Formats: sequence, structure tokens, C-alpha cells
Amino acid sequence: MPYRQLSLRRRCEAILGQLDLAERFCLEGLCTKIAEQRGRPIRLHPLPREAAESGVCGLWVGTATTDYVFYEAQTSPLHQEHIVLHELGHILFGHHSLEGEEADGAAPVVLGRTNYTTRQEQEAEMLASMIRTRAGLGPRPNGSSGDPLGRLGSAMGVR
Ligand SMILES: [Zn+2]
Repeated sequence: MPYRQLSLRRRCEAILGQLDLAERFCLEGLCTKIAEQRGRPIRLHPLPREAAESGVCGLWVGTATTDYVFYEAQTSPLHQEHIVLHELGHILFGHHSLEGEEADGAAPVVLGRTNYTTRQEQEAEMLASMIRTRAGLGPRPNGSSGDPLGRLGSAMGVR
């Protein structure tokens, strides 16, 4: 494995290690864990149509108190889950935080995927796939009880 990729994996493993995750967990449990660790709630929301139409499929908006993760809802449950994991990856790596950058009373700046560097994208993507592997998320061999939509739906408070 090329050195650069190895060090990318190591950086992800270091972050995963700090999370102290259980053997298996759902997306909801993961969000709760990360929120507890950061002392800031994480809220998941479908992307506004305008953003989705502009080609963005997920984004993270941090306000002074809360982290909002937006995901493209007009796609497969598996893809939605991956989008959320990817954005959680950016959060865990601390790729940007609007704290301190937010002018008084100004609306938080919305950053889409394209504002990240390639390295940040690689980090978020690698962490997302490692979390997926660790959690046993994703398609099950025979798809019976493992319903990504059900897990994601409950994480998002969809009833
Ligand atoms: Zn990204």
C-alpha cells in the first residue's frame, strides 16, 4: 500500500479509536456518540431541493450550537446512509467549523462538497467506509433484517 494511503488509513483509525464504538451500532447510535463526544447535537435533514438540484448531495453546516448534516433524500437508502457517514467524516476530522467565523447575526455560511480539498474529501470518504465496515452497516448478504432505510429513518426521526 502506498505510504500516503497508509497514513490516510492510520489517521482514520486514530479517529475511530477515539470514538470507542461498540461491536455493532446503527447510524443513530453513531450520531448520538459523536454528539456526546463533541457536546453538540447533530441534526439530520433532507437537503433543500435547490441545493440538491445544484448537484450537492450532502453537506455539513455547523452553527454556534448545533451540527446540521444535510443529505440528498432522492436517492437509495444505502446512498443516503453513505452521504451521512461521509459528512460525519468531515465533522470527525474537523474539516471546518463555522464557530468564530460567523459574523454577528449573519446566516451560517453553507459549504458544499466542492469547498473541501481533495485530501479532506479522501479523509471523509475513507472514514465513512471504515465506519461502515466497523458498524456492519450496508447491504446484508440476504437482506432480511438489515434494512438501511429503517435504521436511517429512525436516526432521522422519520416515523
Ligand atoms: Zn465531502
